[in-house]
Amino acid sequence: MSPSRSRVLVLGGTGEARSLAGGLVADGIPVVSSLAGRVSAPALPEGGVRLGGFGGVEGLVDFLAAEHISAVVDATHPFAAGITANAARACTASGVPLVRLQRAGWEAHRSAASFVWVDSVDEARAAAEEGRRPFVTTGRQQLERFAAWADRYVLVRVVDPPEWALPTSWEVVRSRGPYDLEAERALMLGRGIDVLLTKNSGGEMTEAKLQAAVELQIPVVVVRRPGLPDGVAVVDTVAAAHEWLVSLRFDGWMPSGPRPG
Ligand code: NAP
Repeated sequence: MSPSRSRVLVLGGTGEARSLAGGLVADGIPVVSSLAGRVSAPALPEGGVRLGGFGGVEGLVDFLAAEHISAVVDATHPFAAGITANAARACTASGVPLVRLQRAGWEAHRSAASFVWVDSVDEARAAAEEGRRPFVTTGRQQLERFAAWADRYVLVRVVDPPEWALPTSWEVVRSRGPYDLEAERALMLGRGIDVLLTKNSGGEMTEAKLQAAVELQIPVVVVRRPGLPDGVAVVDTVAAAHEWLVSLRFDGWMPSGPRPG
């Protein structure tokens, strides 16, 4: 089997996906990473990269066959439920091994008295309704769900600018992280934040806001993760995903061996 028949597809858009791709390239394992193409100037992984949707499950099935993909790592964000469901269906239909790489969530904070756990952004808004100066960090895509909060100051943190005209009482901070505790504390204190809204994204890059909120006794509303498709293997570290791939032992891959020329 030629190396071109043994490529790994990494469904990306996360730091873990970039890290995995870098490790695979270093190990001589052919890899192509896929990005949705939503953010401007995305951080690009090493190895092959493709951008944009596949065209649903059928498009992904076609891609797996056309590109001779031998294994898929779904390393997309914990809230990217659409592509995660599509990957599970396409890999089952194609007989291609799939693993879901999903970083651990922030469940350690579950018992904190000031945390409210909800199932959707709409529920998060309802739970934080009494807040007069909310800090919304649930992402750009569902910001319109907060449109009713045109009556108050809202601090919004996003990577790319929202695509609609925000109420004039809102403030937008654009940044990508990582964030440290001191800066998060200063931001929340400086803006007089009285409730923090977040998804259970997990990971250390954006966790400092939770600690800052606890210290400042600011209530936190956390949106729970969507469920995972049935029957999909799940790992929570880049190293475990890498090991899973190496254990497949496809012909043409050269883990820890000579690099491709
Ligand atoms: P989504 O709702 O799960 O997916 C919607 C559609 O976008 C998919 O059906 C697929 O289109 C396309 N798509 C998504 N991820 C893709 C990828 N890695 N490669 C190729 N196509 C992809 O996705 P989302 O929540 O909008 O997230 C989009 C991307 O942003 C993901 O790659 C994710 O890792 C990253 N991200 C998401 C969040 C979040 O909070 N949701 C946060 C940070 C980063 P087709 O059906 O046409 O294939």
